[in-house]
Amino acid sequence: MTIEEKVAAVRAEIDNAARACGRDEKTVLLCAATKMNDAETVLRAVRAGVDCCGENRVQEFLQKQPAGAYGDKPVHFIGRLQTNKVKYLVGAVDLIQSVDRTELLAAIEKEAVKRGVTQNILLEVNVGGEESKGGFAPTQVAEICASMSNFPHLRVRGLMAIPPIAEAPGANRKYFAEIRRLAVDIAAKKYDNVSMECLSMGMSGDFADAIAEGSTMVRVGTAIFGPRNYNT
Ligand SMILES: *Cc1c(COP(=O)(O)O)cnc(C)c1O
Repeated sequence: MTIEEKVAAVRAEIDNAARACGRDEKTVLLCAATKMNDAETVLRAVRAGVDCCGENRVQEFLQKQPAGAYGDKPVHFIGRLQTNKVKYLVGAVDLIQSVDRTELLAAIEKEAVKRGVTQNILLEVNVGGEESKGGFAPTQVAEICASMSNFPHLRVRGLMAIPPIAEAPGANRKYFAEIRRLAVDIAAKKYDNVSMECLSMGMSGDFADAIAEGSTMVRVGTAIFGPRNYNT
């Protein structure tokens, strides 16, 4: 299949998954996870109708952005972010999805002040409690949201999660459900600078389950671009 066909197929699967649980398919956005794909390839996916692009590495963003990879679509950052690279993203990307530690909140706030912008972010939740992964513990997320008035240049738009690799189909549904409950609880508190409109969860292997549990944004790489070759 071509990239265009694969984008259409993924979009159709998203729409089916949404309808199957009585949701309006327009409430689920498709974020193309573009890591390791060049500007030309990314632009094909953009033109085929993804809603936004998510980059994992600052260096790739800095190369593909001037090459016009993203067309007129929003760009998100979805990878592990070092504090010394924050300056390249604040005010330049629409959403930093992978804010996974308090140090990063402070660094983004500082850069946003410097640039006179407000930066949209998601808080990454380490929903499986995995040591190998970044992200806040669910209990910590609520505390951070309660303190967001201390970061007047940040806007929390929701949560992002990468659950553990599923051992069996459907095994991650409980994690997606947990994220959704957490978001509902936080939204009810109506904290300053915090909304829970975006739940970024679900990847190529499990996005239908994530949608069934309330995902509003799926991040899809492999199902659009094919397997990544980590050897080159
Ligand atoms: C690569 C990546 C994805 C996409 O994963 P696929 O399984 O290829 O769809 C989603 N989210 C993040 C944070 C990623 O790094």
